[in-house]
Amino acid sequence: MLSYLTRPGFSRRFVTTFVVLCLATLAAVSGYTVQSGDTLSEIAGKHDVSTSALASANGISDPNRIWVGQVLEIPTGSSSATSNAVYYVVQPGETLGKIAIKFKTSVSAISALNGITNPSVVYAGTRLQISGSNTTATIAPTVSTAKTHTVKAGESLSLIASKYKLRTKDLAASNSLTNPDRIYVGQVLKISGAGGFVCPVPGGKFFNDWGFPRSGGRYHTGNDLFAVRGTPVLAPVAGYVHHLEGAIGGLQFRLEGDDGHRYIGSHLDSFGKSGQVVAGEVIGYIGDSGNAKGSSPHIHFEIALNRTDTVNPYPYLSAACK
Ligand SMILES: [Zn+2]
Repeated sequence: MLSYLTRPGFSRRFVTTFVVLCLATLAAVSGYTVQSGDTLSEIAGKHDVSTSALASANGISDPNRIWVGQVLEIPTGSSSATSNAVYYVVQPGETLGKIAIKFKTSVSAISALNGITNPSVVYAGTRLQISGSNTTATIAPTVSTAKTHTVKAGESLSLIASKYKLRTKDLAASNSLTNPDRIYVGQVLKISGAGGFVCPVPGGKFFNDWGFPRSGGRYHTGNDLFAVRGTPVLAPVAGYVHHLEGAIGGLQFRLEGDDGHRYIGSHLDSFGKSGQVVAGEVIGYIGDSGNAKGSSPHIHFEIALNRTDTVNPYPYLSAACK
């Protein structure tokens, strides 16, 4: 910048404009120091920016490579312009139909953007995405389509289970097979969960609380699954489990799914298996650790599509947790 200032060809007006732009840029960022257990998608969610905007603001090419103590610039103002997303907070008494008319869009478009499976249920205070890039909708169809497998000659149940990265007993249970040795060629098996996604807390209580208001002007970037303390938490998909501990998430699992997505569960009471797991293995136990201390035991559950974009897990959960 100094060289521009000293070059005679540049007018004072240009220099003034340049300095004002620099100040404007400085005014549009704030800092955040990475805590133990933080992920880039969580930090982005806390500050109401997209993970990709946060990554690009900090020159981060690999979202997995952040470290404790690292100070991140949090883009403000400009972030919504770059992500091109429009948000709206539901007012008391409003229906999705009314909101659709207001923004000249459709109920189905808003539902798809926000992972809403029942458009007649919308909660006041929820922040809805009205337009912009749609990541939730790209994953929803894969979870609502139940996979099947037609048994071929020479296949055993355990072979089929391993093909779909499931446990044999889960595959047997989802097809009501009392004897795993009694399958026959041509038999159509339902692949458990939906698309291989296993309910992380079978019997747990949850609803579509994505986008609910949180302290400090934040919005909820996951779903909470409630169950009694000590209830096992299962790996929703096969992958590699990391266990972390932080002030906010408490005891937390981070599962790098073999499907390319990341699954996070916070506020565990204790840890289960870590490292490589198959879908359905116990990776932790329900609790209230971290900033959930004293609340009803639950896990805060998040899905980061392609390990980057945090999307509403509700379509997955409502399909798999019956
Ligand atoms: Zn939560």
